[in-house]
This record gives sequence, structure tokens and C-alpha cells, in this order.
Amino acid sequence: WTEGTLDEAENSLKELAALAETAGSEVLDGLIQRRSRPEPATFIGKGKVSELRDVVAEAGADTVIADGELTPSQLRALEQEIKVKVIDRTALILDIFAQHAKSREGKAQVELAQLQYLMPRLRGWGETLSRQAGGRAGGQGGGVGLRGPGETKLETDRRRIRTRIARLRREIAEMRTARDTKRTNRHRHLVPSVAIAGYTNAGKSSLLNRLTGAGVLVEDALFATLDPTTRRALTSDGRHYTLSDTVGFVRHLPHQLVEAFRSTLEEVTESDLVVHVIDGSHPDPASQVRAVREVLTEIGADALPEILVINKMDAITPDREIELRADYPDAVFVSAHTGAGIDKLRLVVEQALPQPAVEMTVCVP
Ligand code: GDP
Repeated sequence: WTEGTLDEAENSLKELAALAETAGSEVLDGLIQRRSRPEPATFIGKGKVSELRDVVAEAGADTVIADGELTPSQLRALEQEIKVKVIDRTALILDIFAQHAKSREGKAQVELAQLQYLMPRLRGWGETLSRQAGGRAGGQGGGVGLRGPGETKLETDRRRIRTRIARLRREIAEMRTARDTKRTNRHRHLVPSVAIAGYTNAGKSSLLNRLTGAGVLVEDALFATLDPTTRRALTSDGRHYTLSDTVGFVRHLPHQLVEAFRSTLEEVTESDLVVHVIDGSHPDPASQVRAVREVLTEIGADALPEILVINKMDAITPDREIELRADYPDAVFVSAHTGAGIDKLRLVVEQALPQPAVEMTVCVP
């Protein structure tokens, strides 16, 4: 369902598909419905629901992702109608944040956002639990709602989540103070690290794959603990460094996710270099660059050396390329798809990496 123009809806849906792919899903199909307001019960209208049911069955999909924020009861009603899992944009973004959060603070922020999202939806969850509990207790339950053992369970769950939320808030406040101290006292990595930042869909993960080559994963104990969004790379003179994919920027970031987003991205401040990827085929790359830079400034990563990379050069006309080269004279122009410009980029990254510290022992006779 959308209230905007068809173009806006299509772009938003494309972004949603890109986000779903980032989260590791395979996107099968998309449906748009234009209405003046969402259908109260099921978010989309009745006819669209049955169309969606057919599409899901035909494509063999196991999940439907709605581009918008659905109320808990809309999610539940839609699930019952189309018989597969339904999630909304917020849940999807939370999933991506959870995959990308590395620092303790980032993880805590994401968990906080997840619990806050879960709280009002706990009813549905509680019902399932109550049904199971009822079944075990001897045949009661089965959709009778929340009475019986389930109610106690639901209340316990709620209380537990509230306690956890309060604790996370406290921890986050403490960590923030610790981080401010750390930032002025930045510790250098033994192995230099490069963060790949940029708007969602700019091609960050494609670039990460291209730069490191598919399958060059961990044989080294040194890298054994790295998470899947970090890969190692080697300079031409044999020095190791790491390249990390960061969570992308998205439009319409739900309000309650802003903090989680920032702290997930704050890990960028720990890196030695930022590779800022721009989608060269986007009609207005400047607005995306501005949005990314604003946040980098807010999280204190603006003082880090930055390499601007214009990606998707295979997808633009020669005239557009001339304009972009004039607008971004210092950028490196690449195509993660064809590999054009990648060797140049490797070299530029290599030159911008901090030089290894030289250890000297001075012997005084
Ligand atoms: P991310 O969200 O920034 O990590 O972006 P992805 O790497 O997932 O890429 C987003 C979309 O852009 C995918 O559909 C890619 O296939 C496409 N893409 C990435 N790099 C290029 C490129 O060099 N040329 C073209 N034409 N498309 C690209």
C-alpha cells in the first residue's frame, strides 16, 4: 500500500528489495497497491490479499515483507490470510542492524530497539505460547485467547522484557560515557581497518566481494573471529588489512531505529579509513553523499581519511560520466560488476592506509 506516487512506491519497493537481499533473502516478486489509506484490518485491501496469496503460492515464497509499518494486529491478520510469515520494514531493518552490530554498545542498542518493537506485539506471541501451554496442560487453549496458563506466561514475559529494557538503557548510558573517553584516546589497530560506508544499494557488499575476491575467507587464526561482514585483504607489499561492510543508509528510517542505526555505524569511528561508496547511476547522488556525511560527522568519523568511490560506472552514459568526474574530481570511478577501476581503488586504499609502526630497540652500551 502506498499514499505516494507510483514512482515513489516503486523506488521504495526497490530499496526494500535491496534491504531484504542485504539481510540474506532472495526476493521473488513485488506488489503495489495504491489506496488513500491502509485497510484497517489487513493493511492492504481484500482483493489485494487474495492476489498476494496467489503470488506467494506461485513463487513458493516463505515470507512477505510489507513496505511500511503494520500494526501488530494487521501483521497477524495478514499472516492468517496468506499463510506465510509477514514482517514489516522495521523488522527487516532491525534484522540487518542485528547482523551488523559489532560493538557492545551497538549490540545493546539493537537489542533495545528489538525489544521495544516486540513489546506491543507480544500479544500475538503470547497467544501462541498460551496455546502451547494450554495444550500441554490438558486440552484447553486453542485460540481462547489469553486466559489460563498463557496469561501468566505473557505477564512474566512482559515483566522480563521490561526489566531487560531498563537494564539495557542503563548499560547504554554507561557505555556512552566510556566511548567518549575512548574516542579522544583512539587506539590504533595492529591490522589497519577500512570501513565501507554509503547509502543502501550503492554497492558496498558487491565492492567488498570484488576487492577481496569471493571465498578468500579465514585460514588465519588472526582473522578467525571476524564476523561475516569483515574480510581480510592484502596490500601489494604483503601487509594485511581488513575491509568491513557497514550498515547502509535508508530512507524512512523508522524513528525508534535512529539510535540503533547510529551506534551500529559508530564502529566506523574505530576504523583507519572510510571508503564512501556512491551509486553513480542514482539521479541525485549528491543528496545521498550529504546524508551519509552528516551522520559520519555526528558520530565523530568525519576526521577519518575518506576515499570517495563512484560505483556502477557500467550503468551510466559517457555524458553522465563527464558530469560526475567534474563534480567529484577526487573520486575513484569503478564498477563492482565489471571490475573496472578496482585495481586503481586497491592502490588508492593501500596508499591511504596508515604505515605500520616501526619498533626500534635502542641499545645503550
Ligand atoms: P549495498 O546495499 O550498498 O551493499 O549494495 P549491493 O552490493 O547489495 O548492491 C546493490 C545493487 O546494486 C545490487 O542489485 C547489485 O547487483 C547492484 N550493483 C552493485 N554494484 C554494481 C555495479 O558496479 N554496476 C551495476 N550496474 N550494478 C551494481
